[in-house]
Amino acid sequence: MLESLPIGSSACMYLKSLHIKQFRNYIDQEVNFTAPKTVIVGNNAQGKSNLLEAVLLLATLRSHRVSKDRDLVRNGEAIGEIIATCQRSRSPESYPVELLMRMRASGKRTLNVNGVNQARHLDFLGNLNAVMFSSLDLDLVRGSPESRRNWLDTVLIQLEPIYINLLQQYNQVLRQRNALLKSIKQGQIQYEPQQMSLWDAQLVTAGTRLIRRRSRLLERLTPIAHTWHQSISGGSEHLEINYLPKFAFSPTDTVENIQQSFFEAILQKAVIEQHQGTSLIGPHRDEVALTINATPAREYGSQGQQRTLVLALKLAELELLESVVGEPPLLLLDDVLAELDLQRQDHLLNAIGDRVQTIITTTHLGSFDAQWLNSARIFQVESGRILF
Ligand code: ATP
Ligand code: MG
Repeated sequence: MLESLPIGSSACMYLKSLHIKQFRNYIDQEVNFTAPKTVIVGNNAQGKSNLLEAVLLLATLRSHRVSKDRDLVRNGEAIGEIIATCQRSRSPESYPVELLMRMRASGKRTLNVNGVNQARHLDFLGNLNAVMFSSLDLDLVRGSPESRRNWLDTVLIQLEPIYINLLQQYNQVLRQRNALLKSIKQGQIQYEPQQMSLWDAQLVTAGTRLIRRRSRLLERLTPIAHTWHQSISGGSEHLEINYLPKFAFSPTDTVENIQQSFFEAILQKAVIEQHQGTSLIGPHRDEVALTINATPAREYGSQGQQRTLVLALKLAELELLESVVGEPPLLLLDDVLAELDLQRQDHLLNAIGDRVQTIITTTHLGSFDAQWLNSARIFQVESGRILF
């Protein structure tokens, strides 16, 4: 019941209930969220991350573990479903929204809002916003550029749902251009400059849209992340985050400038691309440079310091989403709280307060502050079943 939800008086997006069917290791499980904080406790491989993954899928239509739908649907089943009731605000005029995502092992998805099929992903997005912070996110600092690109894409999909279309358009052009380059490499077809330049133009147009949005996002995230980083580290380190395509680029460049540099970079690589049979320039290869006091963050400091940076990035993501959407997103903390020392835990918990609905997973409750646990609802998960 909405009235019994002890959430602060400010406007708040929240998830009221989740129903997952034939999803990962769950058969048919319903969960009602009745407190601002839910803690899900369970041993390894019981279904903690799977549950958070289901929520993130509704918010972004992507899995943070980036699997095919075949992996999301319970083994041996054809169809899996995630159903959620959520509410954007506590104001009396806001009604609950029911979201349904049906996945098929064959790959086709159905999206439904309040019983109405949504042919476009765009129309499904935006009903639920969420920020996930999991141990995988340490890859944001230490991992490959792909994890940083994925992070930007996931944030952008929620900030401006049209981005999911732009991403699909780019990926389609990229796939076709790659197929052409591969055929040329294998000698199946001959290189024709005119044909290739058509694909180049499409790649540049679609790619520039992604580059500009990713770069703009970083411009907005950086000052927020910088402030969090200073406050958590207690230091005065200078954090810089820059978007780095494979050509000279400045966030202030005009569309025409970016397209021109993109184009020139492709021309320079034309021979190598044909030789390798794949596209080497474009947002699928771009990097996000994280630097602290002019040192690449990857080479900077201890694991603890890197965690501080990831925490600052995640809090910036949360704050930015909140300011754009007007309500705090759901926060999904997958097994990370226990990994943070008490000071970092405090920062995180103070930042979220009771304002942000939070679902936390953990293998043990020992490292949580007792007073804080008092205000949380605790569920146990065992072999894909939630015990209340
Ligand atoms: P940990 O503490 O190790 O992170 P966890 O509780 O988060 O564990 P999950 O990742 O949620 O664990 O669940 C893992 C379990 O789900 C594994 O036993 C895995 O085999 C099972 N699983 C994953 N995908 C499927 C699927 N498609 N069908 C059936 N079971 C699956
Ligand atoms: Mg897990």
